[in-house]
Amino acid sequence: MSTTHVLGYPRIGKQRELKFALESYWRGDSSQQELLQVGKNIRQQNWQAQKDSGQAWVTVGDFAWYDQVLNTSLLLGNLPKRHQSEQINLDSMFAIARGQQGCGCNHAASDMSKWFNTNYHYIVPEFSEDSVFSLQWQQLFDEIREAFEQGHAVKPVILGPVSYLYLGKNDDQAASNFDRLSLLPQLLTVYREIFQAIADLGVEWVQVDEPILGLELDSQWQDALLAAYKTKLSPTKLLLTSYFADVLDNAEVIKQLAVDGLHLDLSAAPQQLEQVLTWLPEAWVLSAGVINGRNVWRANLPEIIENYSSLKVRLGERLWLASSCSLLHSPLDLESETDLGDAKYRLAFAEQKLSELQILDEALNGEADALRLSRQYSAALQNLNKKNNSSLQQRISALTPAERERTLSFEQRQEIQQKSLQLPPLPTTTIGSFPQTNEIRRQRREYKAGQLSQADYDAALAQHIKDAIERQERLDLDVLVHGEAERNDMVEYFAELLDGFIASRFGWVQSYGSRCVKPAIIVDDIERAKPLTIEWSSYAQSLTNKPVKGMLTGPVTILTWSFAREDISRAQIAEQIAIALNDEVAELQQAGIQVIQIDEPAIREGMPLKRSQWDDYLNWAVSAFKLSAASAKPETQIHTHMCYSEFNDIMPAVAALDADVLTIETSRSAMSLLQAFEHFEYPNEIGPGVYDIHSPNIPSIDDIKALIDKAAQWIPLQRLWVNPDCGLKTRNWQETEAALNNMVLATKELRASF
Ligand code: GLN
Ligand code: ZN
Repeated sequence: MSTTHVLGYPRIGKQRELKFALESYWRGDSSQQELLQVGKNIRQQNWQAQKDSGQAWVTVGDFAWYDQVLNTSLLLGNLPKRHQSEQINLDSMFAIARGQQGCGCNHAASDMSKWFNTNYHYIVPEFSEDSVFSLQWQQLFDEIREAFEQGHAVKPVILGPVSYLYLGKNDDQAASNFDRLSLLPQLLTVYREIFQAIADLGVEWVQVDEPILGLELDSQWQDALLAAYKTKLSPTKLLLTSYFADVLDNAEVIKQLAVDGLHLDLSAAPQQLEQVLTWLPEAWVLSAGVINGRNVWRANLPEIIENYSSLKVRLGERLWLASSCSLLHSPLDLESETDLGDAKYRLAFAEQKLSELQILDEALNGEADALRLSRQYSAALQNLNKKNNSSLQQRISALTPAERERTLSFEQRQEIQQKSLQLPPLPTTTIGSFPQTNEIRRQRREYKAGQLSQADYDAALAQHIKDAIERQERLDLDVLVHGEAERNDMVEYFAELLDGFIASRFGWVQSYGSRCVKPAIIVDDIERAKPLTIEWSSYAQSLTNKPVKGMLTGPVTILTWSFAREDISRAQIAEQIAIALNDEVAELQQAGIQVIQIDEPAIREGMPLKRSQWDDYLNWAVSAFKLSAASAKPETQIHTHMCYSEFNDIMPAVAALDADVLTIETSRSAMSLLQAFEHFEYPNEIGPGVYDIHSPNIPSIDDIKALIDKAAQWIPLQRLWVNPDCGLKTRNWQETEAALNNMVLATKELRASF
């Protein structure tokens, strides 16, 4: 038998138990004891599933109450400065993640950032020249003991020191010339202590994740890797792990490192194998990440068996089989899905991926039963042929360049829109969603369960929309939204209405903290067989004289936040979605909607890890967006929204989207990212978020004024909008109204001072 293992396992629980336990604890409805018990149960189930499927070890250290990078910060005693006086415990961990008010303090939530090109968000570590590290938080060691006590073989996972530094940022007080790489020697001292402590617990192998090995690192960071690993860093054996891309750009460095094995993501980058095998040191183990940890599709086991059988002969026990990356990014268990029809036979979630590893291992070892099983398995895949939609393909290939973009230039459109919309300077708006109250959620649940009729559900939605419009009128916002009460999720809603998607019931994946998403699954060509948003948008518009934004999710985001089929390119799928949205835009404006927002929060996250692939990606991403907006008349104002804080390197693409108004997330970075917009002479209108919606903290009028003032340093007032960072669905109405009220008051004070 070979060694099989996974790089990590979903920690949210099959029924999202961790989410509910966390939220109940945060509300004060349950005790810490209860929360701890839920976490313990999940770990126990996860480990048992790994053991039962024959994995060589259970992976320990992948569990997190909030985020594994934040775990690492606590382990290293690296707290943000604003929290340094606090004891490290569960509550201070949550305070660091979520922000904290009351208690005589007012701490902003920590910065979050996307985990490479996934939709997982980690808490960004903060560094400055006086960062001091020391081994603090004991969770990792406790859990290793816990797993041993349950009788498991244990392989801990830890985020490596170089990626940890790389993924962090300099804090507000860091000197401008501070280079966080200067902290590496000190950091390594603590890592050595950690590895020693792990070794003392009786561990043989540690999985040390250095996911930055998949990036095109400059020599500074390559040198840091050498400094960290050229001499033995751990008394245990180390499996050096990277994922999401090939490691070829760093091959020269990797082969010099004193580790004992290398894990490659051979799902994302199978072509790297051949090259790596030419230099892989004799003594090393190769952990082949052949089961894709990021998709929901069954693996083509016979193909993998064929591709790896000679390698198995060549490497013998040195070949390990693994998930390509942590299974954190895939849903947990297919068993409980009842509504997927035949598509179910094409799918594998985390638990099924464990079995795939098992079958694969047995088959590679020549076991007849496993070989038979793997063949049956793939026969099932082949029997599920997709239909070929030629009319859609014809329509796409017949598109002329003029049909792919808007008719007038931004300057011309701006003039027309100013006349028709008549907005005040610094127009105020929100990003789309309003609180998804318990009532809305209950009504949706009852409706889906057949307990609430269509008519009653519609009446309830109409009531929520009316309420949202009334509240916005009272707040005196300028451009209103209908509030998205009818949407559970900005992608799922469209996926349910468009042909070509299926939806799972429990296919949740953690996005950040207690927040989960349930990506739709693209199984076929995508078409708009019926209107998507017309009814609720026109209803909302009928209630007010102010413009109400039509609210669509953009093609790249729908694609990126779904599990996409793999038999056609992502560019082709995006184009299919764009055509559907293009029809919707045309119909919205016919229905009297003057402003339409096409959200693209995922454009950046969909970027390939390698810069060398960016241009190609951005080209098709931008053209898909433009195609979806191309049916808008000059007087229709197109907004787009993106929530992240790194625009420098994609500025040309962002400008090329040519949205009339772009709203972005900026409050956490104190507007500093607008520098990129000024530097690049971004021409269109911008709404930099003036407060962070991830945190329950209420921004003060002065905070908001200061941020708008700061924004005005970079962007002329004539092109500035005022809005929150993102949608408000996760907040309650009280927080929402208090914050928006301050936002509108701050704006009015500024207008009065012009
Ligand atoms: N319109 C969406 C909302 O407000 C946008 C969400 C997002 O950018 N993630 O919820
Ligand atoms: Zn957003």
